[in-house]
Amino acid sequence: MLKRYIAYLIRWQLSTPILAPVLTVLFWMNKWVAAAIANLIGGLIFFWVDRFIFSSEKLGPIWEVKDNVRCADCGKIARGYRLVKAVNYDRTKDPSPEFRCEKCSKRKTEELRKRGVKV
Ligand SMILES: [Zn+2]
Repeated sequence: MLKRYIAYLIRWQLSTPILAPVLTVLFWMNKWVAAAIANLIGGLIFFWVDRFIFSSEKLGPIWEVKDNVRCADCGKIARGYRLVKAVNYDRTKDPSPEFRCEKCSKRKTEELRKRGVKV
């Protein structure tokens, strides 16, 4: 999570040297309109950067959390967790994803670690 957060903070800093020149060039415009145009340009660029930051397993494992699901191991109805993506592990296209309660998820996570998954 820390790697992802730091990448996100760096991404925000990168928007400054890209957006400031746009505002400089559009100095003659209404400031609100110029800011909207600068943000549109930023959105076109940073959509892809943000998508990488929030979906890359290289910055940390990706988990999905759902409330009120049946645990695949013990059958308990609880908040469910499932690992979606990590280094050496990809269940993004799993047709029948399995969620586990917190206790079973911790056990499963240890099993995955022993198998070499970086989670
Ligand atoms: Zn369980």
